[in-house]
Amino acid sequence: MALTFSGGLDLQKSRKASLNRITALPTPRYITLDCSGDKNAAFKPFLAVGEHVNAYQCVGERVFGDGSVPVYSGISGTVKEIVAGADGQPSGMIIGYEEKQQKAEIKGYGGTLAELTPEKITEIVKNAAIPCRGSYGFAYKRLQAASGKLKRFILNCCESEPGLTSRSAVITDDVDAVLNGAKIIMHALDIRNCEIAVERENGPVIDLISSKIKRNSLFSIRKTKQKYPQDEEIALIYAICGVQALDADEPERTKCAVFDAETAADVYRAVVYGVPYCERVVTVESENLLCPIGAPVLDLLEFCNVHAETAVKIISGGPLRGEVLKKLDEPVRPDSAAITVIYEGDGSPIPEMTQCNLCGRCVNVCPSRIIPYKLAELSRQKKYSKCADYGISACCECGCCDYVCPAYIPIKKLIRTAKHKKTAPKRDKNETDKPV
Ligand code: SF4
Ligand code: SF4
Repeated sequence: MALTFSGGLDLQKSRKASLNRITALPTPRYITLDCSGDKNAAFKPFLAVGEHVNAYQCVGERVFGDGSVPVYSGISGTVKEIVAGADGQPSGMIIGYEEKQQKAEIKGYGGTLAELTPEKITEIVKNAAIPCRGSYGFAYKRLQAASGKLKRFILNCCESEPGLTSRSAVITDDVDAVLNGAKIIMHALDIRNCEIAVERENGPVIDLISSKIKRNSLFSIRKTKQKYPQDEEIALIYAICGVQALDADEPERTKCAVFDAETAADVYRAVVYGVPYCERVVTVESENLLCPIGAPVLDLLEFCNVHAETAVKIISGGPLRGEVLKKLDEPVRPDSAAITVIYEGDGSPIPEMTQCNLCGRCVNVCPSRIIPYKLAELSRQKKYSKCADYGISACCECGCCDYVCPAYIPIKKLIRTAKHKKTAPKRDKNETDKPV
């Protein structure tokens, strides 16, 4: 029987499993390295306008309270602009492309895996600026937090949303990089087994991985039910380990860490070849494009012959989790697994929002086992500080609640607003302590 979690949506039955290939996007006209998303980090550019940049070159760093992480360019060209944030401080960099692309020299770790210490792996992963999901933001922070505390390591090979195939494409393109990256992560975590979570229906990927791992005791395949959001950390830990995580990032309690297949492949390339993180695979229509981080979405759409003017909306991400794009020059970001194009007739217009009728559907589908309608109402009333009592940090923003709500309440958006306000240093002046 396939492993699964409680809640979620059964949407993916029609997806046809196949081995998906990756196509490299031609070098975009420019890239925008936008570091404005993280309010706790400042961007420090190392180059000035007019200076030349090679692909794989470090062009600046994100500076946090407790350290810094480099920022790399995925193309070669010239610095066109240092972008300023709302506070007037540098928040990013625009790099224009050049005809003949050049790469900076890179060098991998030359020794054997046995010689690599967990600290050295963490250092390489940090210097390569490899991201990971969840509040850690970077894979090195997750490795540091998990070090010596875990019993289980799940390699997430499930797709993130219906219609997306970017993760399967990464596995198909270089399954050895994914599995060898998983071995390096196991070594860093001091764990002897990697549980590969893959949807039962994704037969081609299961066959491919099985043909590689054969009877290798380091790996076991755990087949999950094809249900959304099976790739979420909370849902995966429940499906595989039977433990309900209370937060997306609590390895101390669950004794379990999840790393995505893409992260494993990135770790492998960083350790063995010295490749820094500066590109990712993005699903656009039926294509999987390897794009430099910062490539304008319009370049991806044009390459896939998508005429933006014929679309009703274009979403950065999948249809359930993604954000509608206001401008098509928005850059590809580390979390841009897809660009989803919605055409007229893809769905009926969203009716007017009405009042919550306490039907409980949002509670039934919530994989985080929280009470979405309660959090939405607290957010609507600006009672942000009370949201912690209702487990707001466990919300993985999957959007299942929005999908089923008969009152068309934008529950995920309200919860996201409350999450951001919650971290604001001052209590909102409109916030009251009245009961909901
Ligand atoms: S699904 Fe919508 S109407 Fe039903 S309880 Fe949740 S918020 Fe209220
Ligand atoms: S409350 Fe959060 S985790 Fe629960 S269904 Fe809604 S978006 Fe998903």
